[in-house]
Amino acid sequence: MAFFSSASRYLCRRRQIFTPYSPLRRLFCDSASAEEQIKAAGYHVGGGPSFMRGTVFWEPNRPLTMEEFQMPRPKAGELLIKTKACGVCHSDLHVLKGELPFSSPCVLGHEITGEVVEIGPHTDVSIRERFPVGSHVVGAFIMPCGNCFFCVRGQEDICEAFFAYNRSKGTLYDGQTRLFLRNTGNPVYMYSMGGLAEYCVIPANAVAILPSSLPYTESAILGCAVFTAYGAMRHAAELHAGDSVAVVGVGGVGASCIQIARAFGAAEIIAVDVLDEKLSKAVSLGATHAINASKEDVIEKIKEITGGKGVDVAVEALGKPITFVQCTKVVRDGGKAVMVGLAPTNALGEVDITRLVRRQIKIIGSYGARARQDLPQVVKLAETGIFNLKNTVSRKCRFEEANEAYKDLDGGKIIGRAVIEITE
Ligand SMILES: [Zn+2]
Ligand SMILES: [Zn+2]
Repeated sequence: MAFFSSASRYLCRRRQIFTPYSPLRRLFCDSASAEEQIKAAGYHVGGGPSFMRGTVFWEPNRPLTMEEFQMPRPKAGELLIKTKACGVCHSDLHVLKGELPFSSPCVLGHEITGEVVEIGPHTDVSIRERFPVGSHVVGAFIMPCGNCFFCVRGQEDICEAFFAYNRSKGTLYDGQTRLFLRNTGNPVYMYSMGGLAEYCVIPANAVAILPSSLPYTESAILGCAVFTAYGAMRHAAELHAGDSVAVVGVGGVGASCIQIARAFGAAEIIAVDVLDEKLSKAVSLGATHAINASKEDVIEKIKEITGGKGVDVAVEALGKPITFVQCTKVVRDGGKAVMVGLAPTNALGEVDITRLVRRQIKIIGSYGARARQDLPQVVKLAETGIFNLKNTVSRKCRFEEANEAYKDLDGGKIIGRAVIEITE
């Protein structure tokens, strides 16, 4: 007994010799280790909170409300994340305004960082090893099932299960949500992982490790804005060094496209927007030219910059019929018009058929990227500073300010990207 207590004290003093989860250390320093784990994760299976707060979207044009939820439980292959930050994205706004129908009530927010606090039972050992409890992670908004026809082919960005279950029903891939209100037990649907809550459940296929050098708040945008830009440039545009690129609409995704185009070695990067403030921001992020579409003729100006030819790649990041047409007109013969902006349901884009046929104009849709192969690459771009996160995030809000953040996004008042800080 005496030996054990003095040995225990000694080992506790020398605890750096043990890894945090060493069974030996557990044996000798049980209370210290439990305490630290709670601190590390702010959550503990045995002693953590049994409920959490999250914002709920009830119906279009009604403000989000803060509600209490039962603590969500991850299933096999899923992680419970303590959400640290969540980006404010136009896709959520489309749902809030009723432009994109989605199951409700639901928790929006699909661009998150956080800390792994629990791993679903029966989860594969390789996932447990990759994302141990306490890991800092970033989540991609497209959460691939890993097993469908497209995932097997590596096209995780069009995963069948993600669209059939999450985007169509607001659930994960067993057809169930992980969110239930604390008092009534009523289910609440999930837009992606339902990131505007203190905790969220994400399939492990959709997360990547966030190195400790990257801050939680700014890194939240990696999972949607930067991820979408990377997918558009790599898979849809297949950008080559020396290419010319025009980006129409330089908000969160557009501004990220500019930085990714620069990272891929684009020679001319032309930013197009109607706000001078956004354009000067775009120039500071690497755009070589800026065109204010409310003052100048975009098509003429782009032809002028490219010696009359048009750009190799034009990216549409607004989701508007007028800019859709513009993008098809500013690409050179054989060029690619890449569409990344979501439009209200049933919006149509016109196209000059004869030019498309004769001059081989390629119109390519691009929604996001491939979580398992692309998200770690995106993280590396941020880690090495090739992608400047700090310059892209222009506003940080508190959890309680979510409604104002979306209102300002709708009013065009957010120049880069706003991020909501959710838990400490
Ligand atoms: Zn988004
Ligand atoms: Zn799939």
